[in-house]
Amino acid sequence: MIGPPVRQVATIERRATGFNVLCDRCVQDGSGEGWIGATFSGRLDLDLECGIFLCRNGHAVRVQRVRATAGPASIVAA
Ligand SMILES: [Zn+2]
Repeated sequence: MIGPPVRQVATIERRATGFNVLCDRCVQDGSGEGWIGATFSGRLDLDLECGIFLCRNGHAVRVQRVRATAGPASIVAA
């Protein structure tokens, strides 16, 4: 099964579960009737790294968690 093409990637905080995303395509083509109409919200469970969500007009947006910031604690030995 092939879904709509994903053209937008939004990132959320590592520990976020709910999110609000402004759909770029709705903004560009005006189908969202302004920024409020182009915004949609969703939920990504903590055990999921990413997911594909549809805005209110059916545009696919990939939502993924930001990668852990590189630091001494996050260096993984091979
Ligand atoms: Zn949209």
